[in-house]
Amino acid sequence: MYNKLSEEILEGFKKIIGEKNVIYDREKIIDYSHDEITLKEFYNLPEVVLKPNNNLEISEILKICYREKIPVTARGGGTGLSGGCIPIYGGVIIDFENMKKVIEVDKENFTITVEAGLTLKEFYEIVNKHNMFFPPHPGDESATIGGLIATNAGGARAVKYGVMRNFVKEIEVVLPDGSIETFGGKYKKCSSGYSLLNLFIGSEGTLGIITKATISLIPPSEKIYTLIIPFKDLGQGIKVSPLIIQKKIIPLAIEFLEKNIINLVENYLNKKWPCEIGNAYLMIMVDGTEEETLKTSEKIAEICSENGALDVFIIEDEKRQKEVLDMRSMIYEALKSNTLEILDITVPVSKIYNFVYEVKKIEEKYKTYIPIYGHAGDGNVHTHIMKGEFKENKWVEIENWKEKYKLVKDEIHIIGKNLNGILSGEHGIGLLKKEYLSLFFSEKHINLMKEIKKIFDPNNILNPGKIF
Ligand SMILES: Cc1cc2nc3c(=O)[nH]c(=O)nc-3n(C[C@H](O)[C@H](O)[C@H](O)COP(=O)(O)OP(=O)(O)OC[C@H]3O[C@@H](n4cnc5c(N)ncnc54)[C@H](O)[C@@H]3O)c2cc1C
Repeated sequence: MYNKLSEEILEGFKKIIGEKNVIYDREKIIDYSHDEITLKEFYNLPEVVLKPNNNLEISEILKICYREKIPVTARGGGTGLSGGCIPIYGGVIIDFENMKKVIEVDKENFTITVEAGLTLKEFYEIVNKHNMFFPPHPGDESATIGGLIATNAGGARAVKYGVMRNFVKEIEVVLPDGSIETFGGKYKKCSSGYSLLNLFIGSEGTLGIITKATISLIPPSEKIYTLIIPFKDLGQGIKVSPLIIQKKIIPLAIEFLEKNIINLVENYLNKKWPCEIGNAYLMIMVDGTEEETLKTSEKIAEICSENGALDVFIIEDEKRQKEVLDMRSMIYEALKSNTLEILDITVPVSKIYNFVYEVKKIEEKYKTYIPIYGHAGDGNVHTHIMKGEFKENKWVEIENWKEKYKLVKDEIHIIGKNLNGILSGEHGIGLLKKEYLSLFFSEKHINLMKEIKKIFDPNNILNPGKIF
């Protein structure tokens, strides 16, 4: 299907980006064979990793790859959880390490324009320095702006302000034939034909390579508080979340977590969760002026106390709040050694309880361990399919985990579909979820997506084998 790289093509790349930015030694490219997924059977090496310095160099690289039919996969931080940046047909990886420039801080329009390789951590630093606020908080801050846009990442703080899509104003993209296009702009309204900007957000590197983005920010809130609310069981906690929203309180984040997962994170990070009582928790973040934040926290405390909360811990100290958010973000890492796969099926908020309840029945049926936690405020639930369970301070292998894996995965997806959910709320389809696309979308729907892919990428060189 694809051509291999010849000496001549490699020489061409060296001329464009310089010899030191063309890497093909096996030991040096081994880490590019995977992202954060754990299933090694999906790992695959690229033939070469290229580290271009700007959009024009990417354009020249793509012109060659388009002509020679060489597959090209963009890689940001490699923090993806669906195998999105794995080069399954080999070929070229484009690494954005040398593309981290901050191009413009526009204080009048409250936007910052950066190159796609800037990491989330670096982006937060710039945003804070200019006294602005960027609400999305996907858990791993080594993700890049390009990767966050390409997956339409979300994270814990999406309830009030939304996900990446709500903050991307403009992108510069290199198309497969090497042409450079800009989509979107700093304007607030647009009714001008199809939104190609939105088509690129969440397109997982299959339509074009994002090289630059203008991101909108908001003024920082005077205060953010984090509330930790323990419950006797998870069901009670989950049922409270819609009640909070029904009372017209929209927090920054509403997360649900079980104690056994928190214990694992405590163990993994050697840090303490703010409370020990209860078997399940809601972690709620609220923002506003000092007065608003306090008042909202009190209202939430009242609703929760009336509905089974064992206590309410309000954390005001910024450093401690960050620690708690980090503990939440590190759940994946704490479970990773025994995780086969993390799913991120998203259901309507009113159906989270049903989803969790049904997943618990599967856990029971297959005598397995399915840690379940996630974003109670937006219905995005993370379920881990495991090969081990942490018992008495060590991981113990689950009996027949290999046979159970596919059966459990199938059943969880069917539950998600039956509850009017969607396959992925934030991680993307990548490699691991594509077999379930036809469960959630009609044939016509999938064919329309395939036709769009063909229009942008007739030679199918960009991240082939992903999504479909
Ligand atoms: C501990 C942990 C916690 C996480 N928590 C969250 C969370 O809360 N919410 C969430 O949404 N995600 C979360 N993730 C997943 C991950 O961080 C996101 O999917 C992130 O957006 C990936 O960014 P990246 O730069 O690492 O992209 P990569 O993994 O490198 O690539 C992801 C996809 O984007 C494409 N891509 C990358 N750069 C570009 C570009 N410049 N142009 C075009 N396509 C490109 C790739 O080809 C691939 O398809 C978490 C991951 C980990 C490990």
